[in-house]
Amino acid sequence: MHFKVFTLFPELFPGPLKASIIGKALDNELWQCEAINIRDYATDKHRTVDDIVYGGGPGMVMRADVVDAALRAHFQVKKPRTLLYLTPRGTPLKQSRVKELAHCSTIGLLCGRFEGIDQRVIDDWCIEEVSIGDFVLSGGELAAMMLMDSVLRLLPGVIGSPESLDEESFNEDLLEYPQYTRPADWNGMKVPEELISGNHALIRKWRRQQAEKITSLRRPDLWKQYCEKSKGLGKGES
Ligand code: SAH
Repeated sequence: MHFKVFTLFPELFPGPLKASIIGKALDNELWQCEAINIRDYATDKHRTVDDIVYGGGPGMVMRADVVDAALRAHFQVKKPRTLLYLTPRGTPLKQSRVKELAHCSTIGLLCGRFEGIDQRVIDDWCIEEVSIGDFVLSGGELAAMMLMDSVLRLLPGVIGSPESLDEESFNEDLLEYPQYTRPADWNGMKVPEELISGNHALIRKWRRQQAEKITSLRRPDLWKQYCEKSKGLGKGES
């Protein structure tokens, strides 16, 4: 998998993605990261990438012509299939989209700074706008890294035990059940009996109930979707 990251701070990459399993996968050439400095495509002698906001207001906006030049230099076709702009105004990133992205061979990521990027280049290139949450960062780089990490851990060979991907949060619209390890008694707090029963059906039932309980309490939006799908499958709520 090849990431082309368009940024004003290429030195930030791969950054934290050098560590642990994602870093090992980088060493093993399962993925590569090409960080492209948008400033290299500025044409004036000061290498200006931003300008004042039309309509007034504080801050600066990244120029469409400079971003366009950077994109043109790295994509043979205009409107490549997978080019995303990280922005709080985008569609919230979901695990379902992450799973789709894990099948792409090249992913372009555009990182904004200042007040963001001139909308015309986003529209002209039909760039998908994606948000990593309802909060505002100072730049798109950390958001891009989060997206990259979430996609890369799904690639075959990245996670040692891929079955751990089967039962994690957001599968089936449920959050994951609580996890425990040894010691079985810690400061008088015991691991739930069901988990040490050795009865696999009981364990499965307990985990499902816990996942349902936690999802209904913490994420009414996911819970609603889960209940609707369960009804469709004739499962009903427990
Ligand atoms: N003025 C913009 C915020 C700009 S923040 C607004 O109010 O919507 C500067 C840059 O940080 C953005 O261009 C974007 O690339 C990145 N960024 C900030 N918050 C983000 C988020 N929640 N998800 C993805 N990218 C984000």
